[in-house]
Amino acid sequence: MKKQRIGIVGDGLAGLMTALALNDLPTLDVQIIAKKNKLKKDKRTTAISASNYEFFHRVLDKLDKKLFWPSKKINLFYESNEKKINFLNFNEDNNNLLYIFENDKIKDILNREIKKKKIKIIRKNINKSADLDEYNLKVLCLGRNSKIYQSVIKSRSIEKDYKEIALTGYVKHNIKDISTSQFFLKEGPLAILPFSKNNFSFVWSVKKGFATENIAFTIKSKICEILKVKNINITNIQSYPLTLNLKRTYYKNDVLILGEGLHTIHPVAGQGFNLVLRDIKKLKEVLKYYTGLGMSIKSSPALEDFSNQRKSENIITGVGIDLTHNFFKQNKLLDPLKDIILKNVSKNDTLKKISKFISNQGLSI
Ligand SMILES: Cc1cc2nc3c(=O)[nH]c(=O)nc-3n(C[C@H](O)[C@H](O)[C@H](O)COP(=O)(O)OP(=O)(O)OC[C@H]3O[C@@H](n4cnc5c(N)ncnc54)[C@H](O)[C@@H]3O)c2cc1C
Repeated sequence: MKKQRIGIVGDGLAGLMTALALNDLPTLDVQIIAKKNKLKKDKRTTAISASNYEFFHRVLDKLDKKLFWPSKKINLFYESNEKKINFLNFNEDNNNLLYIFENDKIKDILNREIKKKKIKIIRKNINKSADLDEYNLKVLCLGRNSKIYQSVIKSRSIEKDYKEIALTGYVKHNIKDISTSQFFLKEGPLAILPFSKNNFSFVWSVKKGFATENIAFTIKSKICEILKVKNINITNIQSYPLTLNLKRTYYKNDVLILGEGLHTIHPVAGQGFNLVLRDIKKLKEVLKYYTGLGMSIKSSPALEDFSNQRKSENIITGVGIDLTHNFFKQNKLLDPLKDIILKNVSKNDTLKKISKFISNQGLSI
């Protein structure tokens, strides 16, 4: 049977990974359609679970392990009146809990692999899905805000504007042994993500308008205070507006949305791209099955199956993270109770095991 042509629109992490994963299937002819290369580099890091790290290994022929910094420990802190409570620690002696990579370096590696595998990239700005008529399946990986989604999907999403921004950046340091940590501070959650021996990145979610003057100084003072250090060097500060957007419909006819366009969630738990990777795994599985039976994607229930199998986990995770974020927000009535609740959390081994399992494998086991 003739190969079915797949057009993947967008060359962010979602588009590049989808192209490489689907290109493995002998029934498909994969092409990427993306805008001209941008000048602005994505100076963020991403934390992925151990099971998603294995998926990276399966998708890329030879993966340079040095690009993924492993973490055996994750520590969670809560800032109550003047003191910080270390309310939960995940600690593994023999297994890595997660891996952290630099987005721009991994995008370079994925682009190199795409070249090596001779996957065609068409440089074009797509304005409507009708521009993609030649493809048997169109996969829109256009990031969170594309107007094209509205022309594909009419139903309303689950939406919220957090009225917050995530401040991100890199920190050079001389701290001996630094672990992946999340500090639930009064101003908002601040994550510390080590990605090499002397470098970590941070993600600090704060209210819009927070410290507009001398932001670098404010960030440096806060990080020095929580880590009890004096000398650090901060670079690459960037800011991202934060919203929640969970689509209720994933596809129409032969057009599918994937990546941040399907679920934009709060970065507090570092789960956004982890969900995307699980979506890609599932999409590959269903397309392999139906095209392997000799069915055309259009006449098969492939997209319906994909949507049925992924939607609940994506919505539950997005809403669950939203609730967690709300719980840690400052609240005069709830704050005295939080100390008591969090002290009990640290004693509950079952809860620890469940949360470790879910963040590695997701909910759809
Ligand atoms: C601050 C922050 C920290 C995060 N940390 C984590 C983490 O630790 N762990 C985790 O799992 N997730 C994390 N995430 C989520 C993660 O960054 C995203 O899931 C991931 O980047 C996937 O993005 P994407 O490829 O869907 O979209 P994008 O990166 O936005 O890519 C969209 C692409 O589409 C292209 N494009 C757009 N319009 C057109 C058009 N009309 N025609 C052609 N091309 C077009 C763009 O040029 C771009 O290349 C974080 C998110 C934020 C905001």
